[in-house]
Amino acid sequence: MLDCLIIGAGPCGLSAAIEMQDRGLAVEVIEKGNIVEAIYQYPTHQTFFSSSEKLEIGGVPFINKELKPKRQDALVYYREVVKRKEITIRPFETVERISKRVDGEGFEVVSSRMEETVTRQARALVLATGYYGLPNKMDVPGEELPHVFHYFKEGHPFFGQDVVVIGGKNSSVDAAIELEKAGAHVTLLYRGEAYSPSIKPWVLPNFEALVRAEKVKLVFNATIDSITPTHVHYKEQGEATSIKADFVFAMTGYTPDVGLFADAGIMIDGETGIPDFNEETMESNVPGIYIAGVVAAGYDANKIFIENGRFHGELIATSLANRLARETTR
Ligand code: FAD
Ligand code: NAP
Repeated sequence: MLDCLIIGAGPCGLSAAIEMQDRGLAVEVIEKGNIVEAIYQYPTHQTFFSSSEKLEIGGVPFINKELKPKRQDALVYYREVVKRKEITIRPFETVERISKRVDGEGFEVVSSRMEETVTRQARALVLATGYYGLPNKMDVPGEELPHVFHYFKEGHPFFGQDVVVIGGKNSSVDAAIELEKAGAHVTLLYRGEAYSPSIKPWVLPNFEALVRAEKVKLVFNATIDSITPTHVHYKEQGEATSIKADFVFAMTGYTPDVGLFADAGIMIDGETGIPDFNEETMESNVPGIYIAGVVAAGYDANKIFIENGRFHGELIATSLANRLARETTR
């Protein structure tokens, strides 16, 4: 049986895998897409806010021509890390269910790959499933229409189109800037009454300049009522109004999919979404199941990122190696 199965090949899951290998543990990583799927899903031309050394894992240097790498640089880097460290990845397998083995020895993990069901077993598990699982829904009529998106890739297809962006943090502001650059007519509707302090300080001046120059229309205190194929209906300071929209980007953030956690008996705080775990070891309230990466932050995606989540692996690997050593000397 494997010592550990890691679910999620994001930077934090991969870092945990390397730390375990370094301690002689047998580990594999199950991933529903391919490695660093969340970074692959970023906008095509995304620049990281972190400098490259803050994204390094497993001691492999991330050397980059610019201080802050772009999405493509990071994809190349993490592919290289997986190759050099010879991490066993099980790509395109979605974990559907985890449970304790009937004999009490470790865990059983059931995944689906295409039409196939795969069952794997391990003494311990790491849940590093990230938070791009489910977009935050606004629960307004029309949200499911085909011209309403929760992910943004590139501005080009929206040249000359009326586009409404909803939300007021980094994804919304970045999308609005890219769309304007590509010649879309952009309106940003934000429910807040002022710019969010979460917006990266080097991005805000560019966005404010576009608003001042009336290249992007910004509406604060805007709450969305409904979306139709041609318009977004909203209230501004309580007054109903509407705007024409050929396309809508609802950049309202994401919620981690913690279905697997509940399945396994891990307790989740109803308000914060934070799973129950020990901060020194990252072990959850279920002995033998650990949490790594941004999923440890619950609903607040602005608290744990690659920069700090990459260190969870070291805590987990140390705890697991000690525990397995104790078990074998018993
Ligand atoms: P993820 O990277 O989300 O990885 C989780 C993995 O689990 C995914 O690959 C997913 O496919 C897989 N998975 C989920 N469920 C299952 C399942 N059931 N079965 C199998 N696999 C599953 N952070 C920084 O530190 N610096 C930055 O500059 C930065 N820039 C960002 C820019 C953008 C546009 C965005 C959106 C985020 C940025 N972040 C940045 C945040 C960073 O991307 C996340 O914090 C980071 O990806 C978290 O890593 P993780 O390994 O915890 O989770
Ligand atoms: P986010 O930080 O969760 O922001 C979501 C935005 O949508 C917030 O402004 C929120 O409003 C609004 N919102 C949420 N639910 C809503 C609803 N029901 N109706 C209307 N508005 C709603 O998500 P994000 O911007 O996608 O960022 C996610 C993560 O990616 C963060 O860690 C961020 O740092 C990172 N990121 C980084 C960059 C970069 O490096 N440049 C770019 C993009 C994303 P409130 O403000 O009122 O909460």
